[in-house]
Amino acid sequence: MTINELRSRGVRCLEDAGIDDAATDAALLMEYTLKTDRNHILAYGNDEVSDKQADDYDALIKRRAEHIPLQYITGHQEFMGLDFEVSEDVLIPRLDTECLVEEAMIEIEDGMRVLDLCTGTGCIIISLARYKNDLKAVGVDISGKAVEIAARNSESNGVEVCFLQGDLYEALDDIGDRYDAIISNPPYIAGAVIDTLMEEVRDHEPLIALCGGEDGLEFYRRIIDGADSHLVPGGVILFEIGYDQGEAVSDMLREHGYSDVKVIKDLAGLDRVVKAHRPFL
Ligand code: GLN
Repeated sequence: MTINELRSRGVRCLEDAGIDDAATDAALLMEYTLKTDRNHILAYGNDEVSDKQADDYDALIKRRAEHIPLQYITGHQEFMGLDFEVSEDVLIPRLDTECLVEEAMIEIEDGMRVLDLCTGTGCIIISLARYKNDLKAVGVDISGKAVEIAARNSESNGVEVCFLQGDLYEALDDIGDRYDAIISNPPYIAGAVIDTLMEEVRDHEPLIALCGGEDGLEFYRRIIDGADSHLVPGGVILFEIGYDQGEAVSDMLREHGYSDVKVIKDLAGLDRVVKAHRPFL
């Protein structure tokens, strides 16, 4: 069988399973199976594959047909031009979250102390540490497995970040440091909405990385409350938010005395980031 024939069979199988972008995923899984790139597959589509390669490919297609996200099958996701290891223990980094990092790049200066809460793969803090100089970077996650993955991601991306396991600020009890910036893409989906998410997300991504309590705002509340003792006066706080949470999160920040509260839209024109400064007292 040729590469093209095998791939077409993969596309059909994914289409039958109702996978969006069946053609793209079938092609990406072919690249993964043959350990090659898109150009090779386009140029050498009439080359024969071995029986082993065909079996390997079919096994991957079968998993994708079960609606397992492509990234959990390949174990990788690109974010901010960097490669991140992923597994079912962590949320897959989203393109939307690059909007948060880009906004943070404007606010954060070289050498600052930066804290990333709910770090997951570590994609946010690792990108910041990579594109800024000499950050004192700390990432926290409640999941020990996430912290292990994040630590491997910082090593593979050649940056130094201290990853700690714990429930938000509790992880910092022994450090007692204050930060110039706190950043977070916390779980923010309201409990009742979880059931309506696409199968890939609902059944395969970690629920603790998705669910932000009954109203979806629990983590913003807890992070803002705790920031009083962990963010320096004048420090900046940056959140990723759901498209309909801009007002609620802005109000919370204003009630806590924050100034320059700004809601920033993503490339789709939806509210995506809230940032604010803690006033100098
Ligand atoms: N901060 C991580 C990310 O942006 C994980 C977010 C989460 O688990 N909710 O991908």
